[in-house]
Amino acid sequence: MNKGTINVQSDNIFPIIKKFLYSEHDIFLRELVSNAVDATQKLKTLVQKGELTEEIKFEDLAVEVVIDKENKQLRISDQGVGMTAEEVERYINQIAFSGAREFLEKYKDDAATIIGHFGLGFYSAFMVADLVEIQTKSWQEDALPVHWKCAGNPEYEMQTGTRSTRGTDIILHLNEDSQEFLDPVHIKNLLQKYCKFLPVTIRFEDKTINNTQPAWTKKPSELTDEDYKNFYKELYPNSLDEPLFWIHLNVDFPFKLTGILYFPKFRNNFEVKKDKIGLYCNQVFVTDNVENIVPDYLTLLHGVIDSPDIPLNVSRSYLQGDRRVKQISEHISKKVAAKLEEIFKNKREEFEQKWDYLAVFVKYGMLSDEKFAEKAKKFALLENIADKYFTIEEYTEHIKAAQTDKNGKVVALYTSNRSEQDAYIQAATEKDYDVLLMENVIDTHFVAYLDQSDDNLVLKRVDADIVEQLIEKDETPETILNEAQQNIVKDVFGKLLGENTMAQVEIKAMLPTASPIIIVKPEFMRRMRDMSMYNGTDPQFMMPETYQVVVNGNHPLINKMLLQDDTKQRDIAQQLYDLALLQQNMLKGTALTNFIKRSVGLVG
Ligand code: ADP
Ligand code: MG
Repeated sequence: MNKGTINVQSDNIFPIIKKFLYSEHDIFLRELVSNAVDATQKLKTLVQKGELTEEIKFEDLAVEVVIDKENKQLRISDQGVGMTAEEVERYINQIAFSGAREFLEKYKDDAATIIGHFGLGFYSAFMVADLVEIQTKSWQEDALPVHWKCAGNPEYEMQTGTRSTRGTDIILHLNEDSQEFLDPVHIKNLLQKYCKFLPVTIRFEDKTINNTQPAWTKKPSELTDEDYKNFYKELYPNSLDEPLFWIHLNVDFPFKLTGILYFPKFRNNFEVKKDKIGLYCNQVFVTDNVENIVPDYLTLLHGVIDSPDIPLNVSRSYLQGDRRVKQISEHISKKVAAKLEEIFKNKREEFEQKWDYLAVFVKYGMLSDEKFAEKAKKFALLENIADKYFTIEEYTEHIKAAQTDKNGKVVALYTSNRSEQDAYIQAATEKDYDVLLMENVIDTHFVAYLDQSDDNLVLKRVDADIVEQLIEKDETPETILNEAQQNIVKDVFGKLLGENTMAQVEIKAMLPTASPIIIVKPEFMRRMRDMSMYNGTDPQFMMPETYQVVVNGNHPLINKMLLQDDTKQRDIAQQLYDLALLQQNMLKGTALTNFIKRSVGLVG
């Protein structure tokens, strides 16, 4: 028997492993199973190179995970290359690892992601085991089996082992805190999480856990639409939806990247889960958190990215600045934009049908990534209240004739809530103006984006002004009220508003058939407020909502009001004002109750 001390360059690694990896104990299984898979793959390579001439059926070389409840043991066995005594000495005893403590302190939050990339994989066994044994026999002729044993301290024992066939058993004597790994349900779940797509068969309780040839590893030409949809189901068995489209990624140079990204049906809000892209490294599941690896809006996609070239041996926060990660994410953005453009160009009808599901994603992308926006401008769609779809360019062309103002700017009108702003929409439609639907949360930002991105295009919500002035033309209609009458009107409404400093009274010349009073919310102020609301500003510090009470100087009721005494004037003004508030969904509480009582009285 041979005793020795594990050679760790800077420090004893065991307390460090135990201390920092407490939250991610599960990954020991991924590490040991992937070592077993590596060993099996190495055997394949040896055969391919002709270094091993034996006839081997690779389908039969499964990795097996076995629970021994009675002895509180977990065993991972493979039929791979195995290790000679010399190799155990080299690969297990000498942990070529300097500054282990420093490393783990620096990266403790990312430890689960990167541990396997630091050659620390095998030692993660000590997170869950008091004692670890290796029984191994190398593929090399005449190699003696080796038995290695270590109790979680730098001392180990090595002697001739008992394994009679090529391969390796890793035997874990689970510690008191890790008895959950004796539960077959738990082990099965972990295997399904980490090992679902490993390239060598993984067996547990006589069942195969994995699909060794997941769709992304195949050539696109070998796959049908049905195959892609089935793979989506395999990834998300609980999803009721089919994906809208998909992209098969396949790059060899200057980085290696494969994968399939799916466009799910993005629902009309941001309740989208952002953990739907699995990051794999040679079919080993690494994480479902791709933050900082792909731009934020792309995390809304689903699917798989497999790349050995994503440098996971650095902390997450450094990833964003990494040149290769940048290249990878630019490549993905480009592919995504190209795919959407292709469908838009070749299958416009289908694209329009799916637009409602895609809009959030495309808009989010445009708002957050300039390069993507540049491409998406060609296919991003605007929908109007007649449910017609236009590109930005098509739309500008469509409304140009009727909606160019006196300064030569094209004014696009939109509604953020079709039913609440119905009266304003009707007024605009009567004037032959078109109205866009911008009802999504993200549209607050998208409207501002459209406004800024084109000097000749202005966006205004339908209730931003009276319809006569939404799009300023040269003609200035006359009001029939003289100055004295105007002063009386202002006075009556001024008193009505009293202390309310958020509202302003204005008299404007409108059609006699338009409403007597209209409440408008000027675009700029309202947009500022919307933004601060969206950005989560505390309501008590938020800009108060300001609005204008526009009195239609040409409405017969206003004329009639002027002929009445003070009390009657006030009553008429109150009723008309309440109606206007009601139209804007602003009449609430006691004011609403009083209004209803008063109105019932009027009917009687
Ligand atoms: P890594 O897998 O990153 O090299 P590990 O700590 O996981 O680091 O493993 C260290 C080394 O031990 C491996 O590179 C391999 O040479 C050897 N090894 C571990 N497990 C096995 C196994 N099941 N069969 C053969 N060799 C193994
Ligand atoms: Mg490993």
